[in-house]
Amino acid sequence: MGFKDECGVFGITQHSEAANLTYLGLYALQHRGQEAAGICATDGAELRLYKDQGYVADIFNEANLQLLAGDQAIGHTRYSTSGGNIKESAQPFIRNGRFGRLALCHNGNLTNAEQLRSYILTKEEILQSPSDSELLLALIQLSQAESLSDAIIESLKQVQGAYSLLIMDHENLFAVRDPHGFRPLVLGRLGNRYVFSSESCAFDLIGANYDREVLPGELIHIQKGSLQTSFPFERKSHKPCVFEHVYFARPDSFVFGQSVMKTRREMGRLLAERYPVSADLVIPVPDSGVAAALGFAEASGIPMDFGLIRNHYVGRTFIEPKQSIRSFGVRIKLNPVRHLIEGKRVILIDDSIVRGTTSKKIVEMVRQAGALEVHFRVSSPPTTHSCFYGIDTPSRENLIASHMNNEAMNHFIKSDTLAFLTLEDLIRAVHDESRGSGYCYACFNGDYAVPPPVV
Ligand code: AMP
Repeated sequence: MGFKDECGVFGITQHSEAANLTYLGLYALQHRGQEAAGICATDGAELRLYKDQGYVADIFNEANLQLLAGDQAIGHTRYSTSGGNIKESAQPFIRNGRFGRLALCHNGNLTNAEQLRSYILTKEEILQSPSDSELLLALIQLSQAESLSDAIIESLKQVQGAYSLLIMDHENLFAVRDPHGFRPLVLGRLGNRYVFSSESCAFDLIGANYDREVLPGELIHIQKGSLQTSFPFERKSHKPCVFEHVYFARPDSFVFGQSVMKTRREMGRLLAERYPVSADLVIPVPDSGVAAALGFAEASGIPMDFGLIRNHYVGRTFIEPKQSIRSFGVRIKLNPVRHLIEGKRVILIDDSIVRGTTSKKIVEMVRQAGALEVHFRVSSPPTTHSCFYGIDTPSRENLIASHMNNEAMNHFIKSDTLAFLTLEDLIRAVHDESRGSGYCYACFNGDYAVPPPVV
């Protein structure tokens, strides 16, 4: 498999400070991707682009933002597991062709990328990156459709998998979500202008109001400040990614029409009710376990405290001393508060166990800090299947829950007891039924709405 992207997208129209506001929007979406970021802006004539590897704050400065003149812009934050060529895969992508100069930002993962790539290469098109997102732009430019909007529709009909997209030329901006609606995309208003974002937390930062979700299968076209909407694709079952609520989205965001803080807290509450344990202290694994730990503490009546402190300034790599330090990899990020933990029976709450290596090290660290008992509670079901729709999960054999039962995992991470949220409780926490449309739970039950790519 090629690329797996966890990304954030942001777009704004008709604002004299479009690039500056996009920069702020990307700042709020930094958690969705830390490897590269970029902005493309237009002044109604030219499209100008600046992108690079690294954090949003390190890439942009007053000088390069000033070069991005114009009143319409789209931006992207990118995270990918795939090594090499990362700079070439930074977004937005720009491509010249039949429809002039087009820019595109993509959050998601295409499952038929290899077939699309072969098709595009037979047309003697040149591709600059191994990214599946670039293929979308190439397809659009290859289309023989009359209008740009028809070309987008025609191209996306050939595409399978997950996409939340922002596409623009010098005067149009399009926002699209795939018919299953795997990845989020929301619409907001800043005065009378339209803004788009992967998550609503970006609207808060720029003072925009959350309006609604871009719906699964919806294509929104903004031109000269007016909005047109259509549903040009075959209707499919709605499958928004439940893992956005479990882990990925920020708790201060509204995703798929619901507050992430609320659903995550509910996961913790239900976990406490289903798998109670007598203990002295609830400790979240920061930051991902905090909201669920609050819910767990509320429902169980056991006090919660910050027994693990996270260093927020750790980058993706660090230089280890030659003489190995025990649990160095996790200790550089998390450190236990001995004064809180010593002599206590603790319940650790994290949102998920993926490979199991982090939880194992945390349990060891908490025991070393003097815990009498360590009970691990996970606010999602066992992750048994890989995601092919835009969340970075390792291949199946590296998912601990794909080959170990609860007892074996408990033994492996060396906790006294281990319990996961049941799928039924997760479904309750995200109010699946009352929303009237489902979620994608493929990473927990292997039920893939779109067949995974054939390798
Ligand atoms: P591990 O079980 O050692 O692979 O790691 C579990 C930890 O990784 C938990 O603290 C999760 O919050 C976090 N996590 C879960 N999914 C992801 C993901 N897609 N990307 C980065 N971290 C994740």
